[in-house]
Amino acid sequence: MIPKQHILDAPIYQPGKPIDEVKRELGLTDVIKLASNENPYGCSPQVTAALAAQIAHLAIYPDGGSVLLRDKLAAFLQVEPAQLIFGNGSDEILMMIARAYLGKGTNTVMAKPTFSQYRSNAIVEGAELIEVPLKDGVHDLEAMAEAINERTRVVWICNPNNPSGTIVTESQLLAFLANVPRDVLVVLDEAYYEYVVAADYPQTIPLLERYPNLIILRTFSKIYGLAALRIGYGVAHPEVISHLEHVREPFNTNTLAQIAAMAALDDQEFVRSCREQNRRNLQLMTDKFDELGLFYYPSQANFVLVDLREDSDLVFRKLLRQGLIVRSGSALGFPGYQRITVGTEEQTKKLLAAVEALVQGVRKA
Ligand SMILES: *Cc1c(COP(=O)(O)O)cnc(C)c1O
Repeated sequence: MIPKQHILDAPIYQPGKPIDEVKRELGLTDVIKLASNENPYGCSPQVTAALAAQIAHLAIYPDGGSVLLRDKLAAFLQVEPAQLIFGNGSDEILMMIARAYLGKGTNTVMAKPTFSQYRSNAIVEGAELIEVPLKDGVHDLEAMAEAINERTRVVWICNPNNPSGTIVTESQLLAFLANVPRDVLVVLDEAYYEYVVAADYPQTIPLLERYPNLIILRTFSKIYGLAALRIGYGVAHPEVISHLEHVREPFNTNTLAQIAAMAALDDQEFVRSCREQNRRNLQLMTDKFDELGLFYYPSQANFVLVDLREDSDLVFRKLLRQGLIVRSGSALGFPGYQRITVGTEEQTKKLLAAVEALVQGVRKA
């Protein structure tokens, strides 16, 4: 078999290690996964009830246009239904954007390090990559604007940025948008939007009226706790949505995901409670890191990138042996660091005890 040669340059995505695999491999019974920024509180009980009522109807194809969810989300966001597109996770929308706008002879601008999928989709489409280093862990929007040229089709902004957890502020974003040509699509990946508490975080949906070259991506995978069902959405000018519709698969989001997303939207109290608990446990983590003198990036998300000053993969394996799955920074462009998801209070305390023992062990050695 002879594949298209350039796709072999696109790295195969390496997910966080699954809990059952770790239990089996290491003979552990108690394993905590803090590797994939999943919601440690699960999802709203209203979602579980809605899914139970739907489970008898699996023979029927999903609603390809997600009409009910579309109307509900449009009302919730105060946008027109034609401004929305749904994906099998927002990952799929990232792919649709690359497929619709990128190809040979074009380029695309992104931060480095940032979410891995912007890069790999661009490679698959044969576009040139322009990767602009983060500055103090934050997107360098001035340098990114300067990097745009006549072949640039898409710029990716991950806000908060995965893996650093940092945000670009409203004033930084507005200054950037003023410098971007109107025919360059700006993707704002806001997978962690609902976790953010910073007052200077931009509210981007009102910007769509002034900037028709913007697409905002959000997901039900993170704070809504529906990662297993795969559903995310994009909000943009109807013209951008219509381009993406040409590359969307007919039944790309499934019925259970659509039902679950609608029920999840109805329980904003669950979202608020998760956001508050996340901030409390994130604070526990950063207080301990401060006490131990460890550097970390200020996070507005449900994870934190911390410098444990030792080989990332070695630390990863040490924590794994204690039943703690984190994400090694070596695969994320931050050697020496770990990206750790904020868990429940109990999970966080276990994690911090292990980190403290590890750091003190290294200092004695
Ligand atoms: C988790 C994540 C996504 C993908 O989420 P899905 O909706 O589950 O595909 C997209 N972007 C970023 C930055 C993420 O961290």
